[in-house]
Amino acid sequence: MIKKETIESIRNAARIEEVVGEFVSLKRRGANLVGLCPFHNEKTPSFTVSPAKGIYKCFGCDESGDAVRFVMDHEKYSYPEALKFLAEKYNIPVQEAEKLSEEEIQQEKERETLHAVNAFAANHFKSRLWDSDEGRSVGLAYFRNRGFTDAIIEKFQLGYNPEKWDDLTATALNEGYKEQHLIQTGLTIEKNKKVFDRFRKRVIFPIHNISGKVIGFGGRILGNEKKAAKYVNSPESEIYNKSKSLYGIHFARTPINKKDHCLLVEGYTDVLSLYQSGIENVVASSGTALTRDQVRLIRRYTENITILFDGDEAGLKASFRGIDLILEQNMNVKIVLFPPGEDPDSFAREHHSEETEYFIQKNAKDFIVFKTRILLKEAEGDPVKQAGVIKDIVETIGIIPEPIKRIEYVKACAALLDKQEQTLMNELNAVMRKKHTASRKKENELPEPPGDQPHSVQKISPTPVKDPEEESRISKEKDVIRILLNYGSLYFTPSYDPEKEGKEGNDDKVEKPEPLNVAEAIVSDLMRDNVSFSVPEYQKIFLQFIEFIKDKTPVNNSFFTSHPDTSVSKASIDLMTEPFQLSKNWEIKHKIYVAREEENLEMMVVKALLSLKLALLMEQKETVQKKLKEVELEEEQRPLLEKIQAIINKEKRIAQILGRPIMR
Ligand code: ATP
Ligand code: MN
Repeated sequence: MIKKETIESIRNAARIEEVVGEFVSLKRRGANLVGLCPFHNEKTPSFTVSPAKGIYKCFGCDESGDAVRFVMDHEKYSYPEALKFLAEKYNIPVQEAEKLSEEEIQQEKERETLHAVNAFAANHFKSRLWDSDEGRSVGLAYFRNRGFTDAIIEKFQLGYNPEKWDDLTATALNEGYKEQHLIQTGLTIEKNKKVFDRFRKRVIFPIHNISGKVIGFGGRILGNEKKAAKYVNSPESEIYNKSKSLYGIHFARTPINKKDHCLLVEGYTDVLSLYQSGIENVVASSGTALTRDQVRLIRRYTENITILFDGDEAGLKASFRGIDLILEQNMNVKIVLFPPGEDPDSFAREHHSEETEYFIQKNAKDFIVFKTRILLKEAEGDPVKQAGVIKDIVETIGIIPEPIKRIEYVKACAALLDKQEQTLMNELNAVMRKKHTASRKKENELPEPPGDQPHSVQKISPTPVKDPEEESRISKEKDVIRILLNYGSLYFTPSYDPEKEGKEGNDDKVEKPEPLNVAEAIVSDLMRDNVSFSVPEYQKIFLQFIEFIKDKTPVNNSFFTSHPDTSVSKASIDLMTEPFQLSKNWEIKHKIYVAREEENLEMMVVKALLSLKLALLMEQKETVQKKLKEVELEEEQRPLLEKIQAIINKEKRIAQILGRPIMR
């Protein structure tokens, strides 16, 4: 068993064009590459590789898949064999999930040793702080002067390392710790064959991982002397990965979880002062830009984060991009600005914890609203800049995975920007399209616009076709899944009121049309009517969409194109490339086609859903009619006839809706 993380890195690293290119000679045609299909005999290339989508598809023999699938099919490899092949190609170390290799056991031992060295050092610094004259008069005095209580100094295991150049190193070596390990943790520096301490005459802040083990240290210079860096920090090591650590997380995780809220500050001392004043749900990014892994770490405990910011506006603007990382994880982000000259540390020291909490609560502004205000202020009186603001804000909104949230922000920001909601919604659709399906627009090969009935007729059906009803149902199912895959992330503002049209089973009271997300609209409608798909691949894709929506994770099409179940990956690739074929003037036609469908999102969705339901009703009717033939008594026939009549009535209603224009 190969570890999940390894599989992920392999999939991330594998470039489809490079993998296929190793076996097939490919020629660039626009954004795509084409070559002679290795899976069937052909003289003109119909084998197309899309780097943007990470997939290949042969328009001749219908073979398709992602990089892993290609290696499996071409080299006749099993799944793990294909993964290992790619791992080797991309120099990715393969980690097995169960059995540890000799090397891994060794590595694990080494990590344990480094942890032990750090634990020893933390203890050493602590005892120097409390038990040595220099420590007490210099280090402890410094902390107490800054207002830290002994309790907090102990809790966070703060320490001191004396002025002597090898106090820690000499003690550790004397205790039997190996020089090599001291150097590996970064506690000891080797220069010209001499070893000495990294931290000298500094107060020490141990950095813990979530489980409370010391993974690194920060050392602060005493006082405000400017002759050396204010902070010296441990370098990265086998056990200290800066981008995955947050200062204070070990102490803050339970409070964060309890309050369902995390405060993010910049410095060690901000964490200490807030904690001391009773505000314990706080961690620090330690002066560096926040990383995705750090955001994920917080997300284990809460989705709500408030950034306490003590810099100037330029610094704040510089942090905007980093904050997008938080939004991307579907977290709610607020920002608190501190008055000039104040930071959380000084504020918490000068105020009661209730005051500090009140200040934070009162001043916390929603990030997107806040960003809109700042950008708007800058663009005042400059229409060109103002247009840029809309774009900028919509890009940020587009990062949020949850459709409902995006709509809420569109509304709020439209009001702030004094623009129509629909204007922003259109921009948002453009952004979403670019993100999810845009790859297409760039692609050079393919998209032939379909005729009037583009997606109903299929030359290759996923399952053998039996009778007309079933065929009709399959093609309708297919259309719904096609829309989910291609347009799931887009929005439309409904003009059609199901109540008035008397549509079955819809009990939502729609007062004023709210913008709807295509995927959510389809999924909720089908779930309400308990519809399931007869084609197993479609059912799997549908169930996954339900998951995406439930988990509020962004719809991820590569999830389907890379699906381990080949029938799913094939079906999804087909639906994402179909009904496009090779064509010379594809570009113009394709643009028209996409524009046409996109303009009529609502009509497309409603049509597809009703068509599917109509097909289901026809199937039902067929079944009842068969039963009717089998019964002879009038009283047995009557309920069946009534049933048929009810179905016919439903059919009529749907046919009526489908027949009349439903768009404004
Ligand atoms: P203090 O209140 O004692 O000045 P601070 O924690 O508020 O300390 P800041 O200047 O706000 O420090 O910096 C925030 C964080 O950035 C620090 O806690 C530290 O992790 C990191 N940092 C600051 N200066 C340096 C530096 N010179 N080298 C490395 N890291 C630094
Ligand atoms: Mn500070």
